[in-house]
Amino acid sequence: MRHDAVIVGAGLAGLTCAQDLALAGVESIVLEASDGIGGRVRTDELDGFLLDRGFQILLTAYPQVRARIDLQALELGLFEPGAVVRSGAGLDRLSDPRRRPSELLGTLSAPVGTTVDKLRAALLVGEVLRRPVGELLRHPDVSTAERLRRAGFSERFIDSFWRPLFAGIQLDPGLEVSSRRFELILKMLARGATGLPRRGIGAIAAQLAARLPAGSVRTGARVARLEGRTAVLADGERVGGRALIVATEGPAAHQLIGARVPDPGSRAAACCWFASAQPPHLGPTLLLDGSSGGPVLNVVVMSEVQPSYAPPGRSLVAAAVPGPRALERGLAGRVGEQLAGWFGSMAGDWEHLRTDVIPHGQPAQTPPLDPRRRVALGEGLFVCGDHRDTASIQGAMFSGERTALAVRSWLAGPAPAATGGLASTATGHLRKAPMGLSDRLKDLRSKAEEAVVEHKDQIQETVAKVGEAADQRTGGRYHEQIQKAGEKAAGFVEGIAEDGAPEGEPPPGAGPAEG
Ligand SMILES: Cc1cc2nc3c(=O)[nH]c(=O)nc-3n(C[C@H](O)[C@H](O)[C@H](O)COP(=O)(O)OP(=O)(O)OC[C@H]3O[C@@H](n4cnc5c(N)ncnc54)[C@H](O)[C@@H]3O)c2cc1C
Repeated sequence: MRHDAVIVGAGLAGLTCAQDLALAGVESIVLEASDGIGGRVRTDELDGFLLDRGFQILLTAYPQVRARIDLQALELGLFEPGAVVRSGAGLDRLSDPRRRPSELLGTLSAPVGTTVDKLRAALLVGEVLRRPVGELLRHPDVSTAERLRRAGFSERFIDSFWRPLFAGIQLDPGLEVSSRRFELILKMLARGATGLPRRGIGAIAAQLAARLPAGSVRTGARVARLEGRTAVLADGERVGGRALIVATEGPAAHQLIGARVPDPGSRAAACCWFASAQPPHLGPTLLLDGSSGGPVLNVVVMSEVQPSYAPPGRSLVAAAVPGPRALERGLAGRVGEQLAGWFGSMAGDWEHLRTDVIPHGQPAQTPPLDPRRRVALGEGLFVCGDHRDTASIQGAMFSGERTALAVRSWLAGPAPAATGGLASTATGHLRKAPMGLSDRLKDLRSKAEEAVVEHKDQIQETVAKVGEAADQRTGGRYHEQIQKAGEKAAGFVEGIAEDGAPEGEPPPGAGPAEG
């Protein structure tokens, strides 16, 4: 059977794409290599404990989450805003004074960095909250570490607070990730709540999948190679579509498609899960290793945040090891020693349930980050996933949305006006699921932006050449005006290339932004 669309990969990107196609009346089949849906967002049940595949959190401010996910049905358990930092001296709480005004003094006096560091942190949060996402994505891109230094933070504060916090979120203890992405995530953290669903992080994927027509997803179907718009499974079975969408992790997409989708690099992560009758008294808070000792940089008593993560009378402790150390041999032993050093004999009684090691936790996303990479590769081949946008739950879903739009446009064929009549468009693609005017405009805009992104350097070069020629022809009489016009044009192109319709802005139908 030939499908309208074949989607390879049932992560959040593939599922979102399938959902949008289904809503538009486009039939699709999702081929998933593993034994379940969700990709990197999965949860397993083990002896009454819920173990996510790696330590993950849900930020409720993500616009895609607000638009697509029924947050109430997730029954989120929420983290306390802020974090507890473990430095040599003990445990210190850094709260968010906007949400916990009563903890302002405690936060300012905590011996983690200086008072000026904390005021700078408040200023930085204020700045990212004030600026629209599009503007944040246009900021000059540097590493997260460089961005923090430029903001004036002391090295001590960077090491004891920002490093373990963003190591956990960006899997990046080196703080190498793009400052654009850092600012975006910081905005989302400050704007909304952070939580864990009652049925585990995998409940997000389950909600998306539940809205697909029955039989849309085939698990245990590993695609070994592509032949045009046909996916060839490991056992030789061929599944063809009028459109083929590769929604795998970036490295797997590179393997299937080749040079047109370069390997985005990988950030690894590991998590050791422990069952405990006697957990540390942290409350529903993230504990950061402020001493840069590692390998564990974040500890959370998951069942304090979301009681359903452990059976009655027991607790679940997550010890997260983001970054290259996740791949070290004998990790679980080293983690056990570190936790015994932190929590004493109590940790010795914890039962090690499982260690997850995830070599490709997220794409590398070092600067310069293009947060809106091309999804349409031509001839009905598409690529989506977090490596096309930002490496996050939001980025994966947004890329799925963008791709579904591009697929619909391909299936609808060229606009009649461009080809001289409806009849001539009937060949090749599928004349079905016509797009409404608003979707078509959205799609045209998306294509124009992708073209600008792809040809940005040539366009800038042409703008400069045209300016020079005009300057020469007018004998320098209008030099200033020409220069200003050139700068304006260059800024416009730069703005489209770096911003586009920013993924952080709510898509149509999104709820109001949380204040
Ligand atoms: C440990 C960890 C912590 C994270 N923390 C956060 C966080 O706190 N907040 C946040 O927003 N994001 C976080 N992320 C990132 C987020 O989970 C991902 O960005 C997102 O889930 C990626 O979704 P995706 O659909 O692009 O890719 P994936 O989820 O990787 O889906 C790709 C799918 O393709 C399948 N596949 C691969 N090859 C084939 C093939 N040949 N044939 C068929 N199927 C194939 C895979 O099995 C997989 O199911 C974290 C990720 C990890 C691993």
